[in-house]
Amino acid sequence: MSDTAVVRYEVSEAIATITMARPEVANALNTQLINELDEAFDRAEADPDVRVVILAGEGKHFSAGHDLKVLVGQAEPDEWRKMRDTSEGRFHHEYVMYLQRCWRIHDFPKPTIAAVQGYCVIAGFVLACMCDIIVATEDAIFWSPAALMAGAGAELLVEPWEFGVRKAKEFMWTAPKLEAAEAATLGLVNKVVPPDELQAATREMAERIALVPPVTAQMIKETLNHTWDLMGKRDSWKYHFMVHQWTHSTATALASLERRKTHRNMSDLFRERELGDSVNGPVGE
Ligand code: ZN
Repeated sequence: MSDTAVVRYEVSEAIATITMARPEVANALNTQLINELDEAFDRAEADPDVRVVILAGEGKHFSAGHDLKVLVGQAEPDEWRKMRDTSEGRFHHEYVMYLQRCWRIHDFPKPTIAAVQGYCVIAGFVLACMCDIIVATEDAIFWSPAALMAGAGAELLVEPWEFGVRKAKEFMWTAPKLEAAEAATLGLVNKVVPPDELQAATREMAERIALVPPVTAQMIKETLNHTWDLMGKRDSWKYHFMVHQWTHSTATALASLERRKTHRNMSDLFRERELGDSVNGPVGE
C-alpha cells in the first residue's frame, strides 16, 4: 500500500486490524478504499499467525457508505464510475465491487469483528454486517435511508437476517436512526461500550476468540453460516440484488440521480446536518 493509502493494516500478536482511513469524508467507500480493503483481507488471510481480524474506521464515524461524489459524478470519474452510464455497466460494477467484495468478507475464513462508532450508513452498515461480531459505541447510529433515494435497500439485503422481517420493513421504509442500545436488543450488535473504550473492548473480544484453535474457530463460523445458507440467506441476497438493480432504473430513481447531480443533494444535507462542517464527505447508498 502506498503513501496515499486509505486503509491501514496492522498486526499485533494474533490479531490483524484493518482501518479505513478517510476520516475527512467519514470513511466514504470509494474505489480505492474498496480495493485496499480487499487487499488487506488478502494479507490477513495469507498470514497463518493472524487468527482474528478487526475492521475499524478512523475518526468520528465508522462509514458514511458509498462515496456519492464518485457515483453521481461530482468527482473525477474512475473506470468503474464510467461503467455506470449503462444498466449493464452498473450491474457489473455493483456485482464485482459491492456484492462480491462484501460476500468475501462474510465468507472470510477467520473470525471478524467490526468496531463501530458514530454513523454507520447504508453500504457502511452492510459492511459492518459482513463481520461476525459487532462492537459499537454508545453513540453509534445505524441508518439506511436508501428508500429516500428510491432504492430498494442497499445491494445486499442484510436487515431480515440481522433483526427479522418485521423490524426490517420498518427500518427500510421509515429509515430510523437506530441507536446502539436498541441495535444490541435486536441482536445486531454484540456489545455496546463507551466511546473511549471501543478499541480496548474490541481487542479484548478478539483476544478471547483468538484462544480458540483456528480450525475450530473456522468450523464454528462455517457451520453457523451454513445454517444461514440453509435458511436461504444466499439465495435471498441473489434475488434482492436483482430487485435492487431494477429500482436503480425506475423513473423515480433516475430523477433522484439527476437532482443529486445538479442540486444541493442529500449527501450535502447529511454532511451539514449530521456530520458537522468539519466533515467534507458524502453519504452514499
Ligand atoms: Zn446500487
